[in-house]
Amino acid sequence: MNATELTELTETELQNLKESLLFQKSTILNKSHEFKEEQSSMAAVADEAEAASQDISNNISIHLHERDRTALYAIERALGKIADGTYGQCESCSEIINARRLQVRPFTALCIDCMEEQESQTGLFQ
Ligand SMILES: [Zn+2]
Repeated sequence: MNATELTELTETELQNLKESLLFQKSTILNKSHEFKEEQSSMAAVADEAEAASQDISNNISIHLHERDRTALYAIERALGKIADGTYGQCESCSEIINARRLQVRPFTALCIDCMEEQESQTGLFQ
């Protein structure tokens, strides 16, 4: 293993990352909870004149919900990997993903090589 090329997350960095993930998770859960309460109180006072704008906010609600659900899924997945000790491993080639890359993109599941290969195949740049 070449330490200058490839750096693994230290135990401390992994713990910090885990805490950050747990914090993000609780933020999303709190936000969606508040948002639901806001939505139901808005629905309670809404009259027919507000029906149109209510439709728009319902659409925004669905959009937020989808995005938060995707984020929650990614967080849960990363937390699960931390728990079973596979966090930081490329899902495609099982190589260790560079720690700097993980700190920038904690939800990444692929090493740079596999990511580039996938992007060249799909044409998607995320
Ligand atoms: Zn890989």
